[in-house]
Amino acid sequence: MADDCIFCKIAEKAIPSTIVYEDELVVAFKDNNPQAPVHILLIPKKHISTVITLTHDDKELVGHMFLVAASLAREQQIAQDGFRLVTNCNQDGGQTVFHLHMHLLGGRSLTWPPG
Ligand code: 5GP
Ligand code: ZN
Repeated sequence: MADDCIFCKIAEKAIPSTIVYEDELVVAFKDNNPQAPVHILLIPKKHISTVITLTHDDKELVGHMFLVAASLAREQQIAQDGFRLVTNCNQDGGQTVFHLHMHLLGGRSLTWPPG
C-alpha cells in the first residue's frame, strides 16, 4: 500500500466505501460524486499510480479489469443500452486520484466528445 493513497485505503477498508465487487486482484466501489446513475470505480488492489506506469507484468491484471467491468455492466443492467469505461491520466486527462482506476459510467445517454 502506498502512503496516503486514498484508493489503497479503500481497498484495505481503512476508509469506508460502498463496495460492489471484490476478488483477489481488484475492488469496485461506488464513486462518491457520481456523474451518472451508475458510476463505479474499479481499481487494482496493488498500487499502480497511472496507466503510464503499467508494465508487461500487469497484462493479466488489465485484462481481468476489463472482464470485471463488463460483468459489472451486465449486473447493473446497463450492458444492453451501453456504458462507458474511462481511465483519466495525469493533468490534461483530468486524473485527480493517482491510483489506477477505471470509471464505469452508465444509466443515461453519455455525450461525446467529453469536456
Ligand atoms: P479521476 O478524476 O482521478 O479520474 O477520478 C477520481 C474519482 O474518484 C472521482 O470521480 C471522485 O469522485 C472519486 N473519489 C475521490 N475520492 C473518493 C473517495 O474517497 N471515495 C469514493 N467512493 N470516491 C472518491
Ligand atoms: Zn494506491
